[in-house]
Amino acid sequence: MTLPVNRDGSRMTWRATVLTLFPEMFPGPLGVSLAGKALASGLWALEACDIRASATDRHRSVDDTPAGGGPGMVLRADVLAAAIDAANVSPDRPRLLMSPRGRPLTQSRVVELAAGPGPLIVCGRFEGIDQRVIEARRLEEVSIGDYVLSGGEIAAFALIDACVRLLPGVMGKLVSGADESFSEGLLEYPQYTRPQEFEGQPIPEILLSGDHARVAAWRRAEAEALTRARRPDLLVARTADQKRPKNATDG
Ligand code: SAH
Repeated sequence: MTLPVNRDGSRMTWRATVLTLFPEMFPGPLGVSLAGKALASGLWALEACDIRASATDRHRSVDDTPAGGGPGMVLRADVLAAAIDAANVSPDRPRLLMSPRGRPLTQSRVVELAAGPGPLIVCGRFEGIDQRVIEARRLEEVSIGDYVLSGGEIAAFALIDACVRLLPGVMGKLVSGADESFSEGLLEYPQYTRPQEFEGQPIPEILLSGDHARVAAWRRAEAEALTRARRPDLLVARTADQKRPKNATDG
């Protein structure tokens, strides 16, 4: 994977800029394990910006009641737009809004985002954000699944984590990319490790055979069977994908 380069040809650091009412939540889970080590060593960068810093009134209010009535509160367009503008991100960076109304996040979108300069990510709260700022700042709504969280931060963690593990040097050879769930429109085959026998169950013999071709064929067949049983929708999408002309893009 090639990352965007600086003018001098050096590689630009992949960066996530998160706009949130709770900057103290970051780096949180992204500060530990491989992502955390990679963050500490500068393989990627994270900025958490406080939306409230852009509030202008005496009470530093960021939300107000929904126009037209109804429960809850809505994040104000003016405050959020000011926060986005203050983050001053370059125009080539994707501007995402975590939102249950968005297009569901997929591994292929994650690969795309990881290959770019890194996104600006707006985290909603309350009932969501004023529609006008979504349009005026051209935010791309991204969902992490068909359920409703109380805020965009946990969704942002999921998205950033999925991207960071693909960055060169973060997981070393651990991530082959090619083998993982979704990489070929299939779920991953089952994995085993020691002990050779667990509660009476041995590791499938073929995996101990040392015959790489047979192991590969077994894994392929297991992946296909698992996908057929659990996610037949992926197989349908895969067949459609193979029929598409090569230069077609998602959408
Ligand atoms: N009333 C809104 C939900 C608001 S939930 C609706 O029905 O669409 C509050 C915030 O949590 C959202 O603005 C969004 O930033 C975040 N959020 C909730 N569920 C999410 C999901 N499935 N994917 C991504 N972000 C989500």
